[in-house]
Amino acid sequence: MLDKTYPYYLANRAQTSKAWLEVRDKYSGRPATRVAVPDARATERAIRAAVGAAAPMRAFKPWARQAVLQHCAQRFAERRDELALALCIEAGKPIKDAAGEVTRLVETFRIAAEEAVRINGQTLNLEIAPRLDGYHGYTKRVPLGPVSFITPFNFPLNLVAHKVAPAIAAGCPFVLKPSEKTPIGALIIGQVLAETDLPRGAFSILPLDGAHAAPLVEDERFRLLSFTGGQVGWELKARAGRKKVTLELGGNAACIVDADQGPKLGRVVERLVFGAFYQSGQSCISVQRIYAHRAVYDALKRRLVAAVKALKAGDPRKKDTFLGPMIDEAAAARLHGWIEEARKAGGKVLCGGRRTGNMLEATLMEDVPDDARVNRLEAFGPFALLAPFDDIDEAFRRVNDSDYGLQAGIFTDSLDHAMRAWDVLEQGGVIVNDIPSFRVDNMPYGGVKRSGLGREGVRCAIEDMTELRLMVVRGP
Ligand code: NAD
Repeated sequence: MLDKTYPYYLANRAQTSKAWLEVRDKYSGRPATRVAVPDARATERAIRAAVGAAAPMRAFKPWARQAVLQHCAQRFAERRDELALALCIEAGKPIKDAAGEVTRLVETFRIAAEEAVRINGQTLNLEIAPRLDGYHGYTKRVPLGPVSFITPFNFPLNLVAHKVAPAIAAGCPFVLKPSEKTPIGALIIGQVLAETDLPRGAFSILPLDGAHAAPLVEDERFRLLSFTGGQVGWELKARAGRKKVTLELGGNAACIVDADQGPKLGRVVERLVFGAFYQSGQSCISVQRIYAHRAVYDALKRRLVAAVKALKAGDPRKKDTFLGPMIDEAAAARLHGWIEEARKAGGKVLCGGRRTGNMLEATLMEDVPDDARVNRLEAFGPFALLAPFDDIDEAFRRVNDSDYGLQAGIFTDSLDHAMRAWDVLEQGGVIVNDIPSFRVDNMPYGGVKRSGLGREGVRCAIEDMTELRLMVVRGP
């Protein structure tokens, strides 16, 4: 069960408040718990504490950072069931997916623990002309200092981990604002961080809403804003001043199924259904657009429809539930409206398409007009469209005909097609023989176009949170 109330964290310490945020069970709609909400003074104190912790965090040695990260990984593993249930309640995430997210939380902290003692510099050869004889160059990476983080609702643990764990490894104090829709995951991470000997001020976790988060965006004392969420990220970047900004935003991921996949359709269908509908499609790399070669199109469609119709929807706490609720009724109504709009414009609903409250059926469409919102924008719900292609260049063109570019998938036996996909698809990553929704937490991850700026993945995030410092030595 959840605790009755959750404190927020200011300079490593749990704090209560007169103001409370109610968190509801996203399936039953009933109040689940309450979260203490900081006021503006607390936000200012958190920033000052982070500034004050910059030097102590730098002096906190890599082995000590590693020990903190290892402790956290261990504690998360011990609290696995409780964490999974918290996600299930606050995000409506099916318990199986929630357990998978806890596994990734543990892995992300373990990866960061390894990376914490591997932050290295370079030796530079400066003797490039006779006048430079005796000059030697060296670089090391130093922590940036205070950093601010804003995270979305859909992975309340692991997307927090992707900011917090690299910050600890890099030696940066941070102030984090989790999504007000799902703050519990971050606050349990806060409980565990509070058990460690991180220098005072190293972390604050403030469950604010967006309107009260302006200092995290605008305050010049932060050296980096790392944001994961929707298109509002670009507006925040414009307000962020001189600090570095990384943006991990959304997409409308595409997946190509090549002409030679007939004998392999069983696995292809299984992966596509998972990629399109796991956690009700509320993933930034959820499969939204499926382009299948005409040679396999009809068979793929038949098998996909059968597999989608067999998905079990309902209570996310039940072990056999695959499709739970969307985060709220407004999100489900938005996507349902887009589906209706596409249907009226000539699109054909192959299965699903109906909504009750925040439960939207797993929906597959074909013949969707190019300009329909379900094609052009991020669906971010249990939806995928299917369209045929005749040659691979047409498939590449259709994948690229998007304002987004996070990851794309291609199922093919052709090395040539795989290599060309990697070359021509305008994406942060191309996944061959699997879905675009594939992610391992040590890989570079991020998008191009409207999907974002910069790369996450533990090592990339550590690079973002550190900067090179050069030393030149005139020696013998
Ligand atoms: P959102 O943009 O509505 O909110 C994300 C966070 O930003 C929340 O904490 C929210 O409170 C905050 N926020 C919103 N307006 C703000 C403002 N004006 N000032 C400061 N903070 C503000 O996104 P969401 O609905 O929580 O999450 C879904 C989006 O996140 C989707 O677009 C999804 O694709 C994207 N996402 C991207 C990745 C990635 O790694 N690329 C991962 C997960 C989710």
